[in-house]
Amino acid sequence: MNIHEYQAKAVMASFGIPVPQGKMTQSADEAVAIAESLGGSVWVVKAQIHAGGRGKAGGVRLCCSLDEVRQAAADLLGAVLVTKQTGASGKRVNRIYIEQGLNIASEYYLSLLVDRERECISFVVSPDGGMDIEQVASDSPERILTVPVGGDAISEQESGMMAEHLGLETALQPRFHTLATALLSMFCEKDGALLELNPLILTKEGNLVALDAKFVVDDSAIYRQPEIAALRDPDEENPRESEAAEFGLNYIALDGNIGCMVNGAGLAMATMDIIQLKGDKPANFLDVGGGVTVEAVTEAFRLLFGDAYVKAVLVNIFGGIVRCDMIANGLLEAIKTHPMRVPVVMRLVGTNEQEGRRIVKDAGLDVRWADDLDQAAEFAVAAAQAEQASLSRCATESRSDGTAQSADRLQGGRT
Ligand code: GDP
Ligand code: MG
Repeated sequence: MNIHEYQAKAVMASFGIPVPQGKMTQSADEAVAIAESLGGSVWVVKAQIHAGGRGKAGGVRLCCSLDEVRQAAADLLGAVLVTKQTGASGKRVNRIYIEQGLNIASEYYLSLLVDRERECISFVVSPDGGMDIEQVASDSPERILTVPVGGDAISEQESGMMAEHLGLETALQPRFHTLATALLSMFCEKDGALLELNPLILTKEGNLVALDAKFVVDDSAIYRQPEIAALRDPDEENPRESEAAEFGLNYIALDGNIGCMVNGAGLAMATMDIIQLKGDKPANFLDVGGGVTVEAVTEAFRLLFGDAYVKAVLVNIFGGIVRCDMIANGLLEAIKTHPMRVPVVMRLVGTNEQEGRRIVKDAGLDVRWADDLDQAAEFAVAAAQAEQASLSRCATESRSDGTAQSADRLQGGRT
């Protein structure tokens, strides 16, 4: 789970990590009042969205007067920001953060992450702060230093190596060690998956300050992090993903047009691969899991049928623990509220397979049955392409007779 920069900075401050003074607001008037109360003569107005790259996209404004603060706040609130990380459709700015402006002497990159390869937490540092770190990694990998840490403490030797790599003066090393220790405590206590300071800065006054902050908490640990869970911003999340999570479904929205329902993450990946192999793209990853209930299956079908971009649904169940009759019953429940508006291809194999097929057939549903995954993917791709062609025809006809063009929206993939 991702939280906003201003929220991450509040958590950091509670661990004694130096951050600039600031406050979040959703109004331009309040932005001015906040700047006044912060004092000083330079402020930074920052768009709060769950994506980086805001600076280059105009989402970080340096202001030298209260009028400029008002203007920046008014410009940003409600605007749609397109950054390198948002995709072409961008993200709407609903919150802004007003901070005191600092005098930057140097910018550095510092992050902590769960290092799966080394099976520990690692610090990653680079003197190239404020830059796209993936770019630095590919252009000049020697500028990046990874320091694995053994447990929840960092030694002076480890922090010393990092400080040296960053080019910090020896006099700053104790301060850097204190900072690294506090960052590691936060990461461990709050179940971090990624904590990124890009940039961490050295001010002209000689202070190390986290100027930007990205904090991602391990989703599997959210249950024991109620304070972090309370920071969830539904505006930043895909509503389908949030809905699916409530039913314990592993669902990730993607940009294709074949809705998939599969049991098991490995089988779901294989299903997505084979859809691509057959020439189309999946609209989602959906693993209903082993212990799935009929309510969750119903919800899963509703999600797929309710997604305007889905042109065909492919159900691929290889039932060991999941019973095929339960999948069939879930489908019957779902269509009570969400009609089967696109073709459905089903491959049901395993426990109660005959019963599952019988339930669907007795209900008179127009489902295309496949014997194996290869055939299922072929049928689904053909069905989605036929659906797409018929929508395109619809749109052309409605345009030529001047009627509503809602079919337009359904053509093509998501942007
Ligand atoms: P990002 O582009 O989304 O990563 O947003 P950042 O918070 O990293 O800000 C982008 C850049 O804006 C930083 O790398 C700094 O160069 C600049 N910036 C942010 N805050 C300040 C500030 O207080 N003073 C000055 N001079 N520059 C700032
Ligand atoms: Mg940044």
